[in-house]
Amino acid sequence: MTDTPIALFDMQAQQALIRGEIDRRVAHVLSSGRFINGPEVAELEAALAEFAGCAHAVGVSSGTDALQIAMMAEGIGRGDAVFLPAFTYTATAEVPLVLGATPVFVDVDPESFNIDLAYLRRRVEAVAKEGRLRPRAVVGVDLFGLPADWPAIEALCAEHGMFALDDAAQAFGAALHGKRLGRWGGAAALSFYPTKTLGGYGDGGALLTDSAERAELYRSLRTHGEGGHRYEVLRTGMNGRLDTLQAAILLCKMTLFGRELEGRSAVAARYRERLAGRVAMQRVDAGMESAWGLFTLRLESAEQRERAQAALKAAGIPSAIYYPKPLHHQPAYRAAHAETGAAPLPVSEALSGQVLSLPMHPYLSEAQVDRVCEALLPTL
Ligand SMILES: *Cc1c(COP(=O)(O)O)cnc(C)c1O
Repeated sequence: MTDTPIALFDMQAQQALIRGEIDRRVAHVLSSGRFINGPEVAELEAALAEFAGCAHAVGVSSGTDALQIAMMAEGIGRGDAVFLPAFTYTATAEVPLVLGATPVFVDVDPESFNIDLAYLRRRVEAVAKEGRLRPRAVVGVDLFGLPADWPAIEALCAEHGMFALDDAAQAFGAALHGKRLGRWGGAAALSFYPTKTLGGYGDGGALLTDSAERAELYRSLRTHGEGGHRYEVLRTGMNGRLDTLQAAILLCKMTLFGRELEGRSAVAARYRERLAGRVAMQRVDAGMESAWGLFTLRLESAEQRERAQAALKAAGIPSAIYYPKPLHHQPAYRAAHAETGAAPLPVSEALSGQVLSLPMHPYLSEAQVDRVCEALLPTL
C-alpha cells in the first residue's frame, strides 16, 4: 500500500464510482440528439442553484466566459476600472481587457492570499480621485477555494456604486458565515474545468445569482444576445452556452459532490494537523469554509521551496506552483499596470516566489497525506 501513486488531482478514482451512470447519461444524450440546450442543462442549473442556495444558475461555456458574460451584463467597457487581485489565474484579468476596460491590480493578504481590503480601498479611492477611469467593479477571487472577505467587498462596492463579482472558479462549495458562494456579491462565476472542485470532462462554467434580471440577461448574452424568440437579437452577445453532454456528466458528478467536499476538508485537516507550526498555510478565518480546491503552503524562500519540491519529487509525489508570476509581471498585462500607475504589489510578488501546492483531492487516504508530510517535513 505504501507505494500507491499519489496524484495532484485524481479524476480516475471518482470516475470509477460513477462510470456506469455517466455511460447511461451520455448514451441518453447521444440518442436524443439534443446536443445544445438539451433538458440536462436546465436540470443541472436547478441542481447548482439548489446546492448553492441561490435563486438562479445559468450554465455557460467556461469560467472565463462566465466572467465575461457577467461583465457584459453590467455594460463594463472602455473607461471602466475593474479591480482584481494580482495573485490569481490569468482569466480574471483577461476579461476586462477583452471588453475594453482596464484591470487595476490589487495586492493580496499575506496570510489568506486573498484580496487585501485596505489596499483595495486605497486603490479605488485613488482611481476615483484621479477621475480618468470610473471605478465600476471589483472581482474578488476565492483563491484555492477559500472565500474572500465578501462582507467587506460588498460594503466597499455599495459605497462606490461598483459591481461585486465573485470569481468562484476555484471555490464552488465554499461557504462564508453559513452562506455558500453564489449568494455573495451580485453574481458568482464557476468553472467546470476538469481539475476544479466540480469538474467536467471538458470546458464548462456557470453564473450563480439571486437577481432574476441578471439571470435573464445572462441567458440572452450566452446565446448571441437573443430576445424572446430565436432570430431576434437585442444586444451584442456571444456563443457562450454549456453543452448538453457536459451538463449530463456534471449531473452525475453532483451526486458525489457533497461527500467530495467533506473528503477535501478531511484531507486539509490532516495536512494542517501534521504541518502545524512548521510551515505557513492559508489562514482560514472563523466563519469560513474553504472548498479546498488546492492545498497551498507558503515557504520561507524560493530556495526552501525548491528543496521541498525536490524532496517530494524524489518520493514520487507531485506538487505544483500556482502561480509562479503575479499578473502585473505578465507581458500581456504590463501595459495596463503601467497605465494605472504601476503601484507596488509586494505580497503578490513574494507569494509567487514561495507558494507550493500539495496533492489535493477527495480520494487521498490518511496514509497518503502522511506520506506527503513525511517527505516534506525534513525540508521545513
Ligand atoms: C480556472 C479559473 C478561471 C477560468 O475558468 P475556465 O473554465 O478555465 O475558463 C477563472 N478564474 C480563476 C480564479 C480560475 O482558477
